[in-house]
Amino acid sequence: MWIHFLHYFLHFVAILVLAYLYKPESWKYNYFILLATMFVDVDHLWASPVFDPDRCSISYHTFHSPFFISMYFTTLLVVKQYHIRLIAIGLVFHMLTDALDCYLNQTW
Ligand SMILES: [Zn+2]
Repeated sequence: MWIHFLHYFLHFVAILVLAYLYKPESWKYNYFILLATMFVDVDHLWASPVFDPDRCSISYHTFHSPFFISMYFTTLLVVKQYHIRLIAIGLVFHMLTDALDCYLNQTW
């Protein structure tokens, strides 16, 4: 139960801190952008079943594959443009959250 709480806390609440740290005077806008990166989970829609609490997203879903994850990290390290970098932060944090979930659920 606490693992699910931690998962959703990181996905929805912890990113508030990231949004603030990125640029405090734009934290609401940043939070909206970080929340929008949750759309990376659209790849769950072509999995069967769509939701499986015992499945590890990392390496299973298309946009959670090593190729895409390396693209998110590369973008974070290389691109300095405000919005692109914020999106990369959101995606990398999303992958770290999902990976932590896999580790804690021992599905990875
Ligand atoms: Zn995910």
